[in-house]
Amino acid sequence: MAENPEVARLIPAGSGAEHASVERLEELGIVGAGGGGFPAAVKFKTRVSLVIANAAECEPLLHKDKELLLHGAEPFLRGLRMAMELVGAREGVVGIKEKYHDIIDALENAAPAGVRVVALPDCYPAGDEFILVHMVTGRVIPPGGLPKDVDAVVSNVETLINMAVDRPVTHKYLTVAGAVHTPVTLRVPVGITIGEVIEAAGGVTVDDFGVLLGGVMMAKPAASLDDPVTKTTGGIVVLPVTHSLIRRHNAPWLQVKKVGHSACDQCRFCTEFCPRFLLGHPIQPHRAMQSLLFNQGSDASVATLYCCECNLCTMFACPEDLDPKTVCVQNKPVARERGLTFKGDPKSIEPLPMAEYRRVPMRRLIAKLGLGEFNNEGPLKTHTFAPRKVKVLLKQHAGAPAIPVVKTGDRVREGDLLAAPEQGKLGARIHASIEGVTTVTSDAVLIEA
Ligand code: SF4
Ligand code: SF4
Repeated sequence: MAENPEVARLIPAGSGAEHASVERLEELGIVGAGGGGFPAAVKFKTRVSLVIANAAECEPLLHKDKELLLHGAEPFLRGLRMAMELVGAREGVVGIKEKYHDIIDALENAAPAGVRVVALPDCYPAGDEFILVHMVTGRVIPPGGLPKDVDAVVSNVETLINMAVDRPVTHKYLTVAGAVHTPVTLRVPVGITIGEVIEAAGGVTVDDFGVLLGGVMMAKPAASLDDPVTKTTGGIVVLPVTHSLIRRHNAPWLQVKKVGHSACDQCRFCTEFCPRFLLGHPIQPHRAMQSLLFNQGSDASVATLYCCECNLCTMFACPEDLDPKTVCVQNKPVARERGLTFKGDPKSIEPLPMAEYRRVPMRRLIAKLGLGEFNNEGPLKTHTFAPRKVKVLLKQHAGAPAIPVVKTGDRVREGDLLAAPEQGKLGARIHASIEGVTTVTSDAVLIEA
């Protein structure tokens, strides 16, 4: 295990708290740091017998969870124990890729009573909650369901560390990868621009580039280098503007629809590789493609409701370079509006016998995506950020935007409360990530140092 004291200090020791409460999680503004942004206070308000720590990081090029475990095993395991206590779980499981032998050994040596490590195959999308729960427990979460439906709660590595650190969430760990001089994992203030974070990774190595936020498979293209980092930004990937992934993520819906309509030969490869289909869920992306021939919202659309948007059908399976994932995404609201839903018996759902053999190894996925030259270790490194300004968004979590509790012109210090959820609505508190003077806008609180 690497032990660089400066790097280890990047994971604050915090108060050393041993116990958590949902009220405390609410106070600290902790949300799912893996990308979902679901408020932890709501997730942990349940009783289940198993907590699964999701360390199955499977977005190509991103390594922040691996790095956090390498340097922060103690707060991580403490956070896992706190989560178990909170939900009354007897058992905690760390689901981590089998390739990380050193980390697995270290976790097994340090694991407290009731916690064990499960080594997972290096495949995509091992980090999808439904797939992870099945690989760890053999149970299948029903379509549209939650892990608690099968007596479990799943939480990301960074979320559990945030619980143990026991401070307001003001910073985010993320990997900067792709066409940058120094691919790296950093701890950055929430609200800093992605442009400043890319500079901290040594800057861009190509003239014309695009930026994908959150990885490459489930990415959201950045609108501009001024976009702020949020509590759910797990990665920033820079790629040459000519790279097929940038082209793919920027393709307009009309183009996706027209090409899909004329070129899909119904070969079913998208369905045969779909991880949720293989889990036995009622999703068949080739049927969603049929809806382009007729009308969206046809009965074929029910097959899209349970798509997790992992993008494997589009990025890996389709031999025609079509985009069934986007067709599923576009169909979902139409299907919801029409009240289409799965009417079968959830208990009858069983994984398909070939599921195990259709797993997509990361190595093959990275090659298929043309990312071989950008593969990296993403080591956690120190960097002193001193932004003159941050933009802390009011909505960086599942639910409704938070309501500001500060006014323009207020002076705040790091950790001060900026905004809180409206009474009775799902949401999370937002805190200042730097010291300075606030400006309140319709969607954010700006802080000028
Ligand atoms: S894999 Fe591509 S061509 Fe084949 S059915 Fe799916 S979308 Fe159509
Ligand atoms: S994105 Fe494609 S492969 Fe992934 S769950 Fe949806 S339909 Fe299946």
